Amino acid sequence: MIDVTAIRKDFPILDSRVYGKPLVYLDNGATTQKPRCVIDKLTEGYLYHNANVHRGVHFLSQEATDLHEGARQRVQRFINARESAEIIFTRGTTESINLVAHSFGEAFLDEGDEVIVTDMEHHSNIVSWQLLQARKHIVIRHARLNELQELDLDHFKSLFSERTKLVSLAHVSNVLGTVNPVKDVIEFAHSKGVPVLVDGAQSIPHIRVDVQALDCDFLVFSGHKIYGPTGMGVLYGKREWLDRMPPYQGGGEMIKTVSFEGTTFNELPYKFEAGTPDFISTVALATALDYVEAIGMDNIADYEHQLLSYCTEQFRQIPGMRIFGNARQKSAVMSFLVGDIHHYDMGMLLDKLGIAVRTGHHCAEPLMHSLGIQGTVRASFSFYNTEQEVDALVAGIKRVAMMFGM
Ligand code: PMP
Repeated sequence: MIDVTAIRKDFPILDSRVYGKPLVYLDNGATTQKPRCVIDKLTEGYLYHNANVHRGVHFLSQEATDLHEGARQRVQRFINARESAEIIFTRGTTESINLVAHSFGEAFLDEGDEVIVTDMEHHSNIVSWQLLQARKHIVIRHARLNELQELDLDHFKSLFSERTKLVSLAHVSNVLGTVNPVKDVIEFAHSKGVPVLVDGAQSIPHIRVDVQALDCDFLVFSGHKIYGPTGMGVLYGKREWLDRMPPYQGGGEMIKTVSFEGTTFNELPYKFEAGTPDFISTVALATALDYVEAIGMDNIADYEHQLLSYCTEQFRQIPGMRIFGNARQKSAVMSFLVGDIHHYDMGMLLDKLGIAVRTGHHCAEPLMHSLGIQGTVRASFSFYNTEQEVDALVAGIKRVAMMFGM
């Protein structure tokens, strides 16, 4: 069970008013708000523990190193990785995917080799592969969706060939909320000898993710979407892959020895962490993970599912409502259009009522093309949202519809 009233007190920003109205924050897919404990941890880091990690012999540096490496172990436990060396800190999901595209691509993909993605990917999981395509002339295949906007598994399976080298797909679609059957996908891909990257940007904050149970080869996510700080993310990779992949960037930290005759690289995870890491934010990310685990990932999933059902029920009663994303397994995201009201107009007018939603293509233009639309309005929920906020959203949509003569 979730005590939303108590939880909301942990998030100072939720008490804000915009245009004199109480803020209804429904843009959690873009970024989540931060509980006070995370904000305090950032301040504490700068106030009391600030020294560069790994290189110093002095007390503060060693303390900062211990805190930073402790955070890595915290992430390891959160996703149940085998060892903390399999946790690479990055700037976010985007950088994590780019790292794999660059480094895995360098080591294992040649001209004509194939990467399979899906039609519901975020641009970061498309464009990173297109950059590799430009360099190495690989082929990108993309799996279709069915009429419920679920992954068409038959089509996905039909895309495999002897040239397939990697599958890279979203665990949960940021637009549709569709939860992909990643365990089945991984099992099938592995039966063909193909590794799988799971984009967990939209799953990690909402459902329990266990990399050993899934047996994924890579998992990527962003700290800021799971109540942690911005500019901080994670790449999990199986050691068997990471050990064989070349460094992504060069600099301090990622080397063992450097000379003009040749350089040797550091071991995992440092091989992939060139330069000073954001050691204040890694520690605050660990605090965010403590926070969500204290609530309980299963409680979070149950509560958000309840909100989704409630919202879906209310939306179905709105004349002219079109919901995009009707998957049987769905996360708490509602993408919609009402009549012929432009998504931007709907978003602007809801904003004036204090309701923060996202509008546009949501960094998923190929998905918009496949749906035959330009964009949607998206309300994305967190465990701190309430049924009253759903009511406010529904009332707001009806009011906007009335203004447009519907
Ligand atoms: N993948 C998915 C599914 C996402 O929802 C997002 C963020 N909207 C990203 C990747 C990119 O995340 P970030 O901007 O934090 O790197």
